[in-house]
Amino acid sequence: MSESVLAQELALVTGASRGIGRAIAEQLARNGATVIGTATTEAGAQGITEWLAAGNFKGRGVVLNVADAASTEAALKDIEANEGALTILVNNAGITRDNLLLRMKQEEWDDIMNTNLASVFRLSKAVLRGMMKARRGRIINIASVVGVMGNAGQTNYAAAKAGIIGFSKSLAREVGSRGITVNVVAPGFIATDMTAKLPAEQQQALSAHVALGRLGSVEDIAHAVAFLASPQAGYITGETLHVNGGMYM
Ligand code: NAD
Repeated sequence: MSESVLAQELALVTGASRGIGRAIAEQLARNGATVIGTATTEAGAQGITEWLAAGNFKGRGVVLNVADAASTEAALKDIEANEGALTILVNNAGITRDNLLLRMKQEEWDDIMNTNLASVFRLSKAVLRGMMKARRGRIINIASVVGVMGNAGQTNYAAAKAGIIGFSKSLAREVGSRGITVNVVAPGFIATDMTAKLPAEQQQALSAHVALGRLGSVEDIAHAVAFLASPQAGYITGETLHVNGGMYM
């Protein structure tokens, strides 16, 4: 993809301090977008500003806790005042709070619903206003293979990720006539801090269910997101792109 294909775009990537979010932010920046990457701490946001500058990329880091409506609103106001209207939104930030259902506490359920799903509602709604006015925009939501196939110990996470897919399909129908696309990337098992928490045997067992025989890389996901953000993907909406190396159980 050409380095300037996203030159006119202003992108927000949540959870860009590390892992998949950072790789997405880097890829969009490499393709010419101005990128606002979010982190939960000042130090995290500063780190994003620094690596963007080091790569000669346009953009900066901001503090935004996606679980908190007031923090979301404050960050969006700041971006609008300084950079203007967002044209790309990547809802990437996400957490796990794994437990078997019989042991799952209400707060483990609520935390996941709020951080992984309600955040997508809040951010999409807020950012859509500007996109509707401009009659263009891209919303790309990061779900998970777990939202499609399920996983023991992750009823909360699977429900939130499946929710993202239904949300995106519905929103795509609401805003398509305004030239805005809404799509999902559903990663398989990707080597990040999130999967590093799993025991080595479990990581190996997971790879055995992947046609390509390995965990994915953060770049594998970033390339898919950059494609969906590009003009070449202009006729794709309401879709889920499964980037999982060919998973079968
Ligand atoms: P990670 O734990 O390495 O990074 C998560 C990012 O989200 C971090 O930048 C973190 O600061 C941010 N974050 C967490 N809570 C936040 C909050 N309240 N407000 C703002 N930011 C917050 O995880 P990752 O593996 O890079 O995952 C990124 C996304 O990809 C998540 O939505 C995750 O569910 C999804 N995913 C990951 C995998 C995988 O195998 N790693 C597989 C499928 C889906």
